[in-house]
Amino acid sequence: MAECPKCNGIGVYVHQANHLAVSRVCECMHPCPTCDGSGYIYDTDEFGYRNAIECSCLRYGQRSKLYNEASIPGRYHDAEFTKIKTESGSVDMANARRMAWRFVREYQPGAPGILLYGTVGTGKTYLSCAILRYLILSRGIRARFIEFMHLLSDLRATFGDRGHADAVMQPLVDVPLLVIDELGKGRGSDWELSVLDELITKRYNSSKTTVFTTNYGIEALPKSEGNESENLVDRVGVRIHSRLMEMCEPIRLLGKDLRRDLRG
Ligand SMILES: [Zn+2]
Ligand SMILES: [Zn+2]
Repeated sequence: MAECPKCNGIGVYVHQANHLAVSRVCECMHPCPTCDGSGYIYDTDEFGYRNAIECSCLRYGQRSKLYNEASIPGRYHDAEFTKIKTESGSVDMANARRMAWRFVREYQPGAPGILLYGTVGTGKTYLSCAILRYLILSRGIRARFIEFMHLLSDLRATFGDRGHADAVMQPLVDVPLLVIDELGKGRGSDWELSVLDELITKRYNSSKTTVFTTNYGIEALPKSEGNESENLVDRVGVRIHSRLMEMCEPIRLLGKDLRRDLRG
């Protein structure tokens, strides 16, 4: 069977709907060419018994649902490893893509996370969304994306109601894989840092995997346009910073602006 150009053979088609990336089971699966829509394929064993085996198409609906629950930003609906053009980008992107690929291939619940750090516009969020897409659609992992500033505004909207705030936080604590985008953004107030501390400490204590992106460096970055002068440790404090280093492998992404290249 030739691979469907719409879903590249993964059975789920992803597109943008307003501000979110959403998916549905691809038309090439209506009905499934392998099982003709029954959900089962049959196989006769060496003793002549006919056995029903679940067709792999049964998982497409479930994975599409997982993808739709992940809150991936609409502008990253096309984020995929295969679309990252490393030859036109930096050495860092080639290296980051290779390390991220190893991360998604080897991921098991409780595995250490990664921290994608570097200058603005180097493709960190794109890469984090490619990670989510692969883990959800190809491996059926439950995952979520949250921009740190959005989390803060969602929490502010609870006006200090603890039950309401828990309803915002608990799903982010429980999800096996969480991407926290734009770590270190905000005013860095005590309240903001306490939110971050609570979230990552709870995830750390329950052995959950977290992927972070940040525009702040963890080493002395060269001064250049779009480069924040502060380091991450200045933004989040020593305690949170050392926790992050325990939870994650840092991956550097500097270099030229790749947004245009990624858009093709
Ligand atoms: Zn298809
Ligand atoms: Zn099938």
